[in-house]
Amino acid sequence: MGFFSWKCAVCGLPILNGHAVAGILAARPLSQVCLFAGLTRIVGTYDGYGRIEHDAGIHEIDLNGDEPCLVHQVCLSRAEQRTESEYDPGQGFFYSDEQIRNFVKQLLETATGLRTRQTLLLNGYSEEQLQSAFKRVEDPDDWKGSIDAVVLNETDEMLSCIKYAVEFYTGSKCVLTDIDGVQDEKITRATKVESVGYRNGPAGP
Ligand SMILES: [Zn+2]
Repeated sequence: MGFFSWKCAVCGLPILNGHAVAGILAARPLSQVCLFAGLTRIVGTYDGYGRIEHDAGIHEIDLNGDEPCLVHQVCLSRAEQRTESEYDPGQGFFYSDEQIRNFVKQLLETATGLRTRQTLLLNGYSEEQLQSAFKRVEDPDDWKGSIDAVVLNETDEMLSCIKYAVEFYTGSKCVLTDIDGVQDEKITRATKVESVGYRNGPAGP
């Protein structure tokens, strides 16, 4: 059996295969779902094969029972009554990057409240951490502009945080490149940080 998926019972956008969008941070909310199963709710990442991976293990959606009711976590607060989810014709997988970016944009536009969006998108960082990481690489006169910065002597953890912050605030991909051959004993590592930025990315202008 190939991939299959459903549409969110609230917003109607597809529930994407979590593995297929693992590399696209901004698309993560499209694979993070809540399943209403009887009286319980199972919250986790949809795997494309009828399973939800959650903190305590894997939940198999009962395909022989009633049609499941699945919603994106960001849509949960708008799930007023339990309805059935329709099957997704794209099987949660067969979408181009551009289509996925459009879904992300629509999802974030419909998501209720900034707090819901942030909880899902912060990826374990505090907002302060992301803000200060972004400040180090943004254009100080134009945060929506392209990002083209060099940071020095950063740890892997900090570089991951910067990359995540740029993708979080600009909605576009951030590329880190180590710069080789820096002739300065105080500099152990120099890393270029680049992104097309918010205005020229999928979330802009
Ligand atoms: Zn939804």
